[in-house]
Amino acid sequence: MNKELLGVKAPKKECTDKKCPFHGEINVKKELFTGRVIKKEVNRSATIEWSKSYYVPKYERYEIRRSRLRVHNPSCIDANIGEEVLVARTRPMSKTKNHVIIKVSGAKKVKIDAEHLVEDKNAPTEKGEHHKTEKQKEKHNTK
Ligand SMILES: [Zn+2]
Repeated sequence: MNKELLGVKAPKKECTDKKCPFHGEINVKKELFTGRVIKKEVNRSATIEWSKSYYVPKYERYEIRRSRLRVHNPSCIDANIGEEVLVARTRPMSKTKNHVIIKVSGAKKVKIDAEHLVEDKNAPTEKGEHHKTEKQKEKHNTK
């Protein structure tokens, strides 16, 4: 078991995943990427995405180019959608997976949840307005 990899300490939770860089039988190379988890699968796979600005000389402006990478998500790390993660290159683990998540560096999920909460707050007010109109109709009927 490795306690530290590329300056990253092992997570507190232990796992029995063979493809885990800390508790399994896998070696990582110092070829790192950071990205945000955009897709999570039940078979401990995840897809990460990051963007960079690319200069277009013809229009003298920048365009956003995105890169995606399918990575292994060990069960001791278990990164969720929206989290910023650090991935390292390993040996090929399947047809499309050559990288593994070694660290969750930050969570943006909280912000996304907050946005959803705002949307939820808006929804009842709309319903409330409907109730008002219904009440007004009732008043009209009584008159
Ligand atoms: Zn592990």
